Amino acid sequence: MDTRWSRRTLVQAMGATALAAAAAPPALGAPDPRRVPRAGWDAIVVGAGTTGLPLAIFAARRGGKVLLLDIAGETGGTLHVSTGQMSAAGTALQRARGIADTPQEHYDDLQRISRGTIDPAISRLAVFNAADTFDWLVSRGFQTLPGHPVSGEAHEPYSKPRYYWASQGGRSIMQLLQREVQAPVERGQVSILLKHDVFELLQARDGAVRGVRARDDAGATREFTGRSVVLATGGYAADPATYQRITGRPQYIDMPYRHSRGRGLELGLAAGGRMRGLENYMANYGLVLTSDDHPASLFARPQDFPQKRPPWEIHVNAEGRRFVREDVPSVDAREQSLLYQTGGRRWIVFDQAILDAAPPVLQGLSTEDLREAFDAHPWFKRADSLAGLARAAGIDAKGLQDTVTMYNYGVRTGQDPLGRQHHPLPIAKPPFHSIKTQATTVTSAAGLAVDESLRVVREDGSAIPGLYAAGELLGAGALQGKAYSGGMMVTPSLTFGRLLGSRILPV
Ligand SMILES: Cc1cc2nc3c(=O)[nH]c(=O)nc-3n(C[C@H](O)[C@H](O)[C@H](O)COP(=O)(O)OP(=O)(O)OC[C@H]3O[C@@H](n4cnc5c(N)ncnc54)[C@H](O)[C@@H]3O)c2cc1C
Repeated sequence: MDTRWSRRTLVQAMGATALAAAAAPPALGAPDPRRVPRAGWDAIVVGAGTTGLPLAIFAARRGGKVLLLDIAGETGGTLHVSTGQMSAAGTALQRARGIADTPQEHYDDLQRISRGTIDPAISRLAVFNAADTFDWLVSRGFQTLPGHPVSGEAHEPYSKPRYYWASQGGRSIMQLLQREVQAPVERGQVSILLKHDVFELLQARDGAVRGVRARDDAGATREFTGRSVVLATGGYAADPATYQRITGRPQYIDMPYRHSRGRGLELGLAAGGRMRGLENYMANYGLVLTSDDHPASLFARPQDFPQKRPPWEIHVNAEGRRFVREDVPSVDAREQSLLYQTGGRRWIVFDQAILDAAPPVLQGLSTEDLREAFDAHPWFKRADSLAGLARAAGIDAKGLQDTVTMYNYGVRTGQDPLGRQHHPLPIAKPPFHSIKTQATTVTSAAGLAVDESLRVVREDGSAIPGLYAAGELLGAGALQGKAYSGGMMVTPSLTFGRLLGSRILPV
């Protein structure tokens, strides 16, 4: 592939946030593992990421002794690559901007957006404690982008502006947490062992979890014991085999944090926990990836927000049929409709007249870039007839021909069969063009079931003594249901870490 496209691919796949991730994180706690006490910890936390770091900071404030173990050679976890968008209601920043908002309204929005599919108890715990988490970040120097909070647009909008992020996305949060954990590390209250893969939980005969067994990168095995073990290992979206086994679908995209490999889920299940939330599997409305060899990188995001750019093209499935009104204002409606199409694939179809007249259909690409992509990228196809286009793109030819005929009827009469409002041109002037997109997700819908104290529970609902879990390991579906709600993974991870450290765990 043309190197220019490779460069663009890289920039767009990673985004400014993750490009910055190339910079080395601050060195943190790298004690000689042989000197780290094997017993007597208040909490042994598996994963020094979005959840684990605040947990350690807040447990140390109460005088607790915390061991953070991480398989990576760095702390921060998914914050290295996350966009880091947070949502919280009733924050000091909202009050300062005159925005009257409450956790109850946030909760009601989650119920509305998810159509009642969230876990009520866990979601309430998250949103009713989110403002304290966010205010704490701000009190420690966190700065949002100017004009925040906002209502959001990439996901179904909230009813109030309660959506915040910073200039470096997840890394802005990560750097703050890494700074804050430094003092308890220096005081000896928190020890961080990097490059330690926790592969087993130590369980007493009654099932109570008392510690962990970890292996360092040289193969040495160590056991650590304490009052509680917290699994904060993130999701499984970076492990294609686990992702396929759990979801029954391939993992198409390579954007999740590389250590999100489902290890915490395995550990929790082996200890007697139960998995839930698979029914809440969600994916976005489709991205252009670099190739068919998956997991692949992001090449470009389509301009799919009709409020910003009303669609000129049609969207069809593998059968050549339209399946959603392309200008439906709801992000969720578009995403839900694609979920049920063959392979989660849609093709953006247009003709030469639309290419010449419409604003570019992919974010960050000019019309000239688009023309070049048709010569270079395997997901861009062009042909002199609709039948030829369908053959080249792998779409059903009769379906596509019928669809274009009906669409053009709607353009002529103003009576689009799906009720579309914006249809400035028919699809009539060859060559005809298509761009393939693939529905993808970077997070994990299913996760470990926990109770309101974040204790891992068994099939019968009883808690496994000594074992807690938080973060993406609970499953994206617990807090977002079968939908995407902005900021409802980072903020709950931070919040559950804070709550475990400041009041839930015994110290
Ligand atoms: C590209 C991208 C963009 C995102 N954008 C947003 C967003 O804007 N807003 C939002 O709310 N959410 C977003 N998310 C999701 C969100 O960032 C994550 O759900 C959240 O950061 C996960 O936090 P965590 O503590 O559960 O896991 P992590 O922060 O990933 O921490 C888990 C840690 O556990 C370690 N670990 C794993 N296995 C082991 C093991 N066996 N032994 C020891 N250590 C182990 C890992 O190395 C890691 O450091 C995004 C995710 C991605 C990938």
